[in-house]
Amino acid sequence: MISIKCSDNFCGVYTTEPITKNQVVHTLSLSETCEKPTRTSIQIKKGLHAEDEVGKYINHSCYPSCEIRGTRVIALKKIKPGQEITFDYNENEKVVASPFRCGCCDRNITGRGGRMGEGVITTLFVVAYIVFVLFMLLHSSTDNIIEPLGW
Ligand SMILES: [Zn+2]
Repeated sequence: MISIKCSDNFCGVYTTEPITKNQVVHTLSLSETCEKPTRTSIQIKKGLHAEDEVGKYINHSCYPSCEIRGTRVIALKKIKPGQEITFDYNENEKVVASPFRCGCCDRNITGRGGRMGEGVITTLFVVAYIVFVLFMLLHSSTDNIIEPLGW
């Protein structure tokens, strides 16, 4: 019903037959779980993350075809053969172990309670600093203009 396909180093899970809305696409195995998220785990509930052989290849999408409900991967809409099985990592995971910026809508994928990566925070600081410097420059040049008129 679903199969893992890889090209180069990029893998994904695709359906081989038509799937109807609300259909259970896959059931995540709980034979291997962990308390904290990993790069490949899927969060089932607080403190329970499944390492599923198929689930670990399901990619993120901001416009997902499925969602995770308990251990079940459920179709949010009709999925045609060959289409990808995806879910929204930001919706499902509290914290994404390896945050990234998604290719579908250029959003930081960190999980619901996840923090932005250090790189993003550094960028914000640099931008804030540049704005501050520009503001000071603008302010001081305004002073210079006003001063000669003030005498
Ligand atoms: Zn996206």
